[in-house]
Amino acid sequence: MSTTNDYYDILGISKTTNEKDLKKAYRKLALKYHPDRNKSKDAEDKFKEISTAYAVLSNPEKRKIYDQYGHAGIDGQFNQEDIFRSTDFADILRGVGGMGSGGFGSIFDSFFGSSTSRDPSRGQDLRYDIELTLEQAFKGEKMNITIPRHVKCQYCIGSGAEKGTSPINCSDCGGRGQVQVTRSAGFARFVSVQNCSTCQGRGQIIKKPCKKCNSLGIMEKKQTIELNIPSGVDEGSRIRLRGSGDITSGTGQPGDLFVVTHMKSHDSFVRDNENLIYETDVDYPIAVLGGDILVPTLNKNAKLKIPSGTQNNTIFKLKGKGFPRINGFGTGDLLVRINVKIPKKINSKERKLIEELSSEFGSDISKRKFF
Ligand SMILES: [Zn+2]
Ligand SMILES: [Zn+2]
Repeated sequence: MSTTNDYYDILGISKTTNEKDLKKAYRKLALKYHPDRNKSKDAEDKFKEISTAYAVLSNPEKRKIYDQYGHAGIDGQFNQEDIFRSTDFADILRGVGGMGSGGFGSIFDSFFGSSTSRDPSRGQDLRYDIELTLEQAFKGEKMNITIPRHVKCQYCIGSGAEKGTSPINCSDCGGRGQVQVTRSAGFARFVSVQNCSTCQGRGQIIKKPCKKCNSLGIMEKKQTIELNIPSGVDEGSRIRLRGSGDITSGTGQPGDLFVVTHMKSHDSFVRDNENLIYETDVDYPIAVLGGDILVPTLNKNAKLKIPSGTQNNTIFKLKGKGFPRINGFGTGDLLVRINVKIPKKINSKERKLIEELSSEFGSDISKRKFF
């Protein structure tokens, strides 16, 4: 189960609530909803929801991602287990429910169990690949994608039975979909469980099938899905949209949709994880004397100071002018590689000046004496 409610609302706190008050708010709710204390049916789900909210907001890195990107940022990067494992509940939940020395964690383990073991009625996950420009990946992007997916049949609402009718329980298997079959071989008897042949294992019989879906309960539909791509995605980043995958039966749950991002190449920049690499020509006099040059970044130009005596292939770092790190704090750097430009053509004035310079350097070999 993943929640779509706001984590701050869930804990009844505000965006500016500090760590101490966050702990207090969570502990108060944990006392109320811990399944060892609260026997109501939805207590476990509620406890899981507040614990997830607390696990995210008590971790500064995850809280930052959540503040910026909301659920999409968290769900895209962490599964339930990542979220719980990195949080120390032992301390805060001391004395709450069965969280004694040995018992701690059992409730969380049961959460992982339910989140990792696959429900057989759950549909297929889908994958959708998109290509982004460097600029789109830098800024983040809202876009709509249209995908063909299997959804509940809209006419029979997944039941497979004609509108106005409903499936009836199979009398041969009592609605279980399976029957016990006993075979004898000599004195030995073998009991095996087989799918009921009357209802093909469905447990239900449809007298009047839905004509729109041939009683399958599902239909293919082109669906437009709004996609929020967080800033900082890279080649191969996966964004998970829970419940936007296929369903395989009218009564089952949908799988997830995974959007995988790919990067288009860029005319000016090469990306290296969170860093950007840019190569620029620098005129020979600037390399010798020093001076400022302008370099592009992904939002605006930046000034780079070239110190005097800069050598060819020197790399300068413009801190924080790279990509935002999607998994953590801060931003990468822009690395500028200097290519000292040797002019291919010069005019007569330049020729005269460089010849003077050359003689100043003593470059004329007739004047050199090695031996
Ligand atoms: Zn139907
Ligand atoms: Zn049956």
